[in-house]
Amino acid sequence: MAKIKAEYIWIDGHKPTSKLRSKTKVINGPVASLDDVPEWGFDGSSTMQAAGHDSDRALHPVAYYPDPIRGGDNILVMNEVRYPDGKTHESNKRAGLVALAEKHAAEEAWYGIEQEYTFFQGRSPLGWPDGGYPAPQGPFYCGVGADEVFGRDIVEDHMEACIRAGIEISGVNAEVMPGQWEFQVGPLGPLEVADQLWVARYLLYRIAEDYGVNASIHPKPVKGDWNGAGAHTNFSTKSMREDGGYKIIEEACEKLGKRHEEHIAVYGAHNEERLTGLHETCSIHEYRYGVSDRGASVRIPLATAKDNKGYLEDRRPSANMDPYEVAGILLDTICS
Ligand code: ADP
Ligand code: MN
Ligand code: MN
Ligand code: MN
Repeated sequence: MAKIKAEYIWIDGHKPTSKLRSKTKVINGPVASLDDVPEWGFDGSSTMQAAGHDSDRALHPVAYYPDPIRGGDNILVMNEVRYPDGKTHESNKRAGLVALAEKHAAEEAWYGIEQEYTFFQGRSPLGWPDGGYPAPQGPFYCGVGADEVFGRDIVEDHMEACIRAGIEISGVNAEVMPGQWEFQVGPLGPLEVADQLWVARYLLYRIAEDYGVNASIHPKPVKGDWNGAGAHTNFSTKSMREDGGYKIIEEACEKLGKRHEEHIAVYGAHNEERLTGLHETCSIHEYRYGVSDRGASVRIPLATAKDNKGYLEDRRPSANMDPYEVAGILLDTICS
């Protein structure tokens, strides 16, 4: 037995968009299973999860990962927030997803989430002239060269950290707006993708911190003729991935259209600033799906149409969405 550092990560009660919190507990290690990771608690009155006179809230570990920053046997611990008596706290959206994931387990749903984000240094996106604007969008998407991409060293460190933490990161790319980037997590099941996306966000903030840079997931970090930031959510079930699955995908697209407003309600705050119908988006007031259409709400990839099986891409979720909620409503709408 030796002492290890366990970084306990949880989601706070901040509105309209929850934020990540974390603190360190020194525990006995190495840890061999979740049973070795103790329950813990925190001051909920400082995280918008309690009033001062009854402030204790519980941290219930649900997953742990090797800590790629501290190394050794140290771990990152993802938690659900509960009341001291074990009851689910209102800010805890994971508990609802656990129930939906169990209910629809036979569908074998997979998700791949494309997390877009923007680096900021002070008040400007990284690489932008102080108080001014760079050249118009065009050359920056998947660009190369010191005049086109900003923050690649952070992106590389983050990707490496995700891999070492065992996160199913599937790639990264520079985005359309300079200083904006994307990483993808998946394909994975509903709880795995959501837990891992939150931990990948944690690692991004934590690593950028060492560079004196802030990573923002605001859906429209710069107003005007600049791309917003989304979290396209790619989705499939077992039957969609099997021969002839295209028909099931079309049915799913139809079902999604019937609950457009309910989906938008959990697809992230300020999303109306991003879903304008410009910049590769469909208006927030419309619902459309189409093959290979990046101006639609839901895109069916060309390869899926050609193979007659595959997955769909819901392009509506914004970068600041809660993956527990997005994964849950997709399961509920498509599989019910
Ligand atoms: P885009 O072309 O929209 O930029 P990306 O390559 O960035 O797409 O992201 C696609 C995501 O979809 C990846 O995370 C990938 O792992 C995931 N994905 C691939 N196949 C499936 C599938 N059958 N079901 C769900 N997600 C999938
Ligand atoms: Mn992408
Ligand atoms: Mn993108
Ligand atoms: Mn996409």
